[in-house]
Formats: sequence, C-alpha cells, structure tokens
Amino acid sequence: MWRLVTSLTALVSSSKSSILNQPASTLKIWKSLTTETPILARHGISTHDCTPFITFVLGGPGSGKGTQCAKIVETFGFKHLSAGDLLRREIACNSKYGSTILNTIKEGRIVPSEVTVKLIQREMESSDNHKFLIDGFPRSEENRIAFERIMGAEPNIVLFFDCPEEEMVKRVLSRNQGRVDDNLDTMKKRLKVFEAWNLPVINYYAEKGKLHKISALGTEDEIFEQVRPLFAACEQINSKTLLFLEGQ
Ligand code: UDP
Ligand code: MG
Repeated sequence: MWRLVTSLTALVSSSKSSILNQPASTLKIWKSLTTETPILARHGISTHDCTPFITFVLGGPGSGKGTQCAKIVETFGFKHLSAGDLLRREIACNSKYGSTILNTIKEGRIVPSEVTVKLIQREMESSDNHKFLIDGFPRSEENRIAFERIMGAEPNIVLFFDCPEEEMVKRVLSRNQGRVDDNLDTMKKRLKVFEAWNLPVINYYAEKGKLHKISALGTEDEIFEQVRPLFAACEQINSKTLLFLEGQ
C-alpha cells in the first residue's frame, strides 16, 4: 500500500528550511500532503509512495457531515468516503453481507468493524487521491481499533460536528432521501447509539489533541467557514513544500 516517502523525508531532514520550524503535528500533515504534482515526479516520487492524509468526519445523524464533506471535496480536492453510503451500496448490489447490513441499519446499530473497514480499505487502495475524508466512521472504539489494526494508519485530523439533538431529529425527518433509517423510531435508536458508542471515540481523539469541534448550527456556508481554515492551513504548508522542492 502506501509507504513513507523516504527520499522526501531525507531531503527534508537534511535541510534548515523555515518549513521545518513547524510543530511535529504540522510536519506530519505537511509530509502527508506533499505528493500530487509533477514536481514530485521530477524527484522520483509517485503518489503510491505517499502516506495518506486521513480525516475522520464525526457527528450525530443529521449533524451535516455529508454536506460539509461535499464542500471540502469541492474546495480542497479530497476523496469523500461515506461509510454509510458504502454500506448502502452493499445492500443495493445484494452482496453477501447485504441483508445483515440492512437489518443493522434499520435498527440503528453498528455494522461489524471488519465489514466496514474492508469496504473503506478497498476504496482507499483503489483511489488515485491520497487525501481522504472518512465520513461517519469510526462509530465505536472497536471500529477505531479495527481500522488502526487493518490499515496500519491513524487519522491526521478528526472533525466533530456538534449539533443539538432536536436539530438533528428535525433535519433527519425532513431530508427525504428515502432512507430506511430516517424515521422517528430508528432515529431515537441512532441517537442512543451515538451517545453510547460514538462519543467515546470523539473523546479519545480530543484527548489525543486531534479533534476539531465545529458548531453544526447555522447555514451550510457559515459552518464551512469554521471548517475552511483547518484545511487552508494544510494547503499553505503544502504549497510552501512545493516551492521548497522546486528549489532543489
Ligand atoms: N453505519 C455503520 N457503520 C459505519 C457507518 C454507518 O454501522 O461506519 C450504519 C449505522 O447503522 C448508521 C447507518 O449506517 O446508523 C447510517 O450511517 P450514515 O453515516 O449514513 O448516517 P448519518 O449519520 O450520516 O445520518
Ligand atoms: Mg451521512
């Protein structure tokens, strides 16, 4: 799969450039983003030699994860992987897990980690992009641990869309996407699951200093104005790196 860009790392560690005067966490982001231009090809680095840049997008049902992901894709060129959509695709194509997934979703419960991680893994490995938004996953500590084990990777950043329950219920019941779980009965179960299983994951990343909490109330554009600076900072580091490489 992905390997660390050792040649690039060596290039960097031998330099005293100002981009190196960054905190370790910023450097990690920087390292992951410096990969997708012809400049890299000139240095003999292909996109498959890169570490992926992984963003987990968390929040309760109806908190606006998918909507904001679409804006991030449009503005910053990420690949959007909605775990829920990947699972619904399995149902639609009658895969061997289809009926189990359907029943789990109807009950608002969480599909076994192995199934979800494999679907995410397949998408990541077949993508030309290496900047990923993983939307609606991990939904439990068990999901998180399985991802780390199978993928051998952790997220670079984690977004959490914080939304009051009444607002989530209102949005889900009015979104009319024909989903089997967008009804009051299942929604109540999903909110319970969110509190019991998703919140520990959110707390875990808060403790690790990776969590960015975003208030999910307001218009789509207002909310995006909280999201934009996070990715803009990464882009800025990336462009500095490309200038740096051009100077080599
Ligand atoms: N789901 C799951 N694991 C995941 C993502 C989704 O089991 O990693 C199931 C779960 O039953 C969830 C449903 O799929 O309630 C819908 O998830 P989705 O993220 O699409 O819903 P949203 O939170 O966006 O409303
Ligand atoms: Mg969604």
